[in-house]
Amino acid sequence: MRVLVINAGSSSLKYQLLDTKTREVFAKGNCERIGIDGAFIGHSENDGEKQKLEVALPDHKTAIKHVFEILDQAGFDQSKIEGIGHRVVQGGWYFPESKVVTDETLGWVREVAPLAPLHNYAEADVIEICRDMFPSIGNVIVADSAFHYNIPEKAWRYALPRDVVDKLHIRKYGAHGTSHRYIWRTTNEFLNGDVHKLVSCHLGSGASLSAIEDGHEHDTTMGLTPLDGLIMGTRCGTIDPATVPYLVREGGYTIDEVDDMMNKQSGILALSGLSSDTRDVEEHAEQGDENCKMALEMFSYRCGQLIAEMAQSMHGFDTMAFSAGIGENSATTRQSIANELDWLGVKLDPAKNAIRSDDPRVISADDSKVKVLVVPTNEELMIALDVEELLSK
Ligand code: ADP
Repeated sequence: MRVLVINAGSSSLKYQLLDTKTREVFAKGNCERIGIDGAFIGHSENDGEKQKLEVALPDHKTAIKHVFEILDQAGFDQSKIEGIGHRVVQGGWYFPESKVVTDETLGWVREVAPLAPLHNYAEADVIEICRDMFPSIGNVIVADSAFHYNIPEKAWRYALPRDVVDKLHIRKYGAHGTSHRYIWRTTNEFLNGDVHKLVSCHLGSGASLSAIEDGHEHDTTMGLTPLDGLIMGTRCGTIDPATVPYLVREGGYTIDEVDDMMNKQSGILALSGLSSDTRDVEEHAEQGDENCKMALEMFSYRCGQLIAEMAQSMHGFDTMAFSAGIGENSATTRQSIANELDWLGVKLDPAKNAIRSDDPRVISADDSKVKVLVVPTNEELMIALDVEELLSK
């Protein structure tokens, strides 16, 4: 099936047109700075060079119109698009699995939007626009929180007063679920079913872990929002929650400033004092920059701690898979995380770890107690496969 996957943010919209059978990506791109001056669309076809198209993008509707025009010019008019898959960040309590768009399911995306206001409102608008503009194409909602919804209560419940958490729907929702689901599936295929307890490590500018036993998740590191858990590019991850009132009372920051600080000015960026991008930080650490060294050391230390926590939730692990920007590309970071887990019998083969490839591969030593892999993630393919499954019914 030929599926268009759309990932809308408050001021951006990424798209990818792909075939679920051949897995061929015909076209992909991103509309940037929607509603802001200097908007443009970056577009490429068949893995070719990216073209930059400078166009006015006052709103998401205009962006979608442009995307369909570009795809038409590339030889894919509407009649050749058989389904649209929409990534939704927060599915709340309504999306334990992907669902076809109806008035009801669209309403649910808006109902849970207060849990992810920067994403869900824009996503719901885009879903509505696609449905109204192209009524002959089926639309499917794939929530990033879906995979995490059925973790045990002891893992998702917060130890806050019951009336408060019930009223405000506070619990662990997690994120990156589509990626973790793809990583499980690919690891299982690649190892011919010889995997039972997997710690999936999605380490990109956002980073999270997932504990998966035979395809079912036990726990994940992100929480009510994607701020929890690991140290990330610009997010602080888990800190003492009392830091928030302390910053407000003693630091004089407003709650919005604290929110912005913890989401956009913290993490690797704050620790290194240089960049949120691990490539820059690794380069400066090699040249002796002490803050960059500490940023990387802390990132790996926290990864090691939380990987052990994920393993604990399954009472053991036999496999670990690294994925996303850092997990797929940084052999140095993979090695330092493995060093943290040396006491659990995790051991990499340095030669295998140094290999660069776009394919899944084993990088652990033959005598490692835990098999370690690199598994490039593909959230768009996972979304497209859900669209195919639901629209074929
Ligand atoms: P997201 O999708 O969350 O934006 P990605 O999964 O694309 O993130 O990961 C982006 C991050 O991956 C970059 O910020 C950078 O830190 C890291 N990264 C990418 N390539 C490398 C590399 N070769 N070495 C180290 N880090 C890398």
